[in-house]
Order: sequence, then structure tokens, then C-alpha cells
Amino acid sequence: MALNGFFDFFQREKTFRPKKRFTQGTIRYSLHKHAQASLQSGINLREVVKLPPGENKNDWFAVHVVDFFNRINLIYGTVSEYCNETTCPTMSGGSRYEYLWADGHLYKKPTPLAAPKYVELLMDWIENQINNEQLFPVSTDVPFPKTFVSLCRKILTRLFRVFVHVYIHHFDRIFSIGAEAHVNTCYKHFYYFVQEFDLISSKELEPLAEMTSHICKD
Ligand SMILES: [Zn+2]
Repeated sequence: MALNGFFDFFQREKTFRPKKRFTQGTIRYSLHKHAQASLQSGINLREVVKLPPGENKNDWFAVHVVDFFNRINLIYGTVSEYCNETTCPTMSGGSRYEYLWADGHLYKKPTPLAAPKYVELLMDWIENQINNEQLFPVSTDVPFPKTFVSLCRKILTRLFRVFVHVYIHHFDRIFSIGAEAHVNTCYKHFYYFVQEFDLISSKELEPLAEMTSHICKD
């Protein structure tokens, strides 16, 4: 299925932060619309992630990073009331994986945190990056920083951890509200995007590798 109605579906559910929008009339806005239109026509997700001819790769990355942030934010929002310090005392993905948080400021050393705290810090951190116009320029007069691709890698790697936690610990909730097709489609789109541009290491992708092999076949 395509992503038709993805935002409509999730906006009926609880969300915990406003979604970032693109400014109308900018290149990024038209690329965002281009990406949305491709999705709505229901074509092959493996194809739609490819850089359109003549487009700038950094713009393409910026649009996708912001879109994925918004989508994953909505997805986590639907499980967040079931994700607390009692249900999820660690940011785990099953018994084999646990993520530790470090941000170089408040948490200088990798620190175990309850999942909701970890996700809150993670989403705040991403929001700060994408709202920083030095890092994600809104105007074409401002160049992308040299570190832009590595920043996108880091953001996407961290976003992937939210997928890991939601899939492994909260899929019953996703299922009970009938959102599994939406979440799977979002995951496939994300996965094909990061694979197309080799943005997340296979080691990081490992916690969902088994599931990925089942849902990312086409
Ligand atoms: Zn949880």
C-alpha cells in the first residue's frame, strides 16, 4: 500500500509535537511535494527513493530526513502512553539490544535511560538539528555544511532506533489501532532510502534484519 492518508491516520491519534513544515515556494517544498506525489501514486518504494535527475542530493536528503522525523514522531506518539519507565525501563530492542544515550553535553558518557526519556532526548536533539538553519538551510543562498551527509547519517541512525523499539516492544498497540500497514510502509520507505544511499551501517540495522527480510521483498 502507498502512504495515502498516512498523516490523516496518525493525526487522528495523539501526537506529542507539531510537525515541521516546508516553506511554500522553496526548492525543498517542491521536492517534498514531489516525494509525496510519488508515494501517493503507489509506485515501487525502491524506485521513489532514487534521486530525481538534476536534483541536488543534499536537498533530497534534507526533505527525507524531515519527512521521516515527522512520520516516526507520529508513530511513536501513538504508543507513547504505553511506553513508560515501568514498561520500558531501558531503551531496548528485545533482550539482545540496548541503546545508551550520549550527547556530549548533559550526558557525556553513554548512559542507560528509560525508553521514553531516551526517545524524548533523541527527538529533541533531531528537532534542534533540523530547525538549525546553519545545518538545514532554508534558503538556497546558504550552503549546506560540509558535515551535512554525516549529520543525516547520525539522525537516521538514531531514528531507526525508534523503529526498533516500537516494532519490538509496542507492535501490539500499533496492531490494535490498525496502523500496522502504515507503519510497515513507512518503515519500507525509510529502509529503501537508507539502503539507496548507504546511510545506516548493517550493524545498526541488525535488530530488525529478520523482519526487514520479510517485509522489504518488493
Ligand atoms: Zn517503550
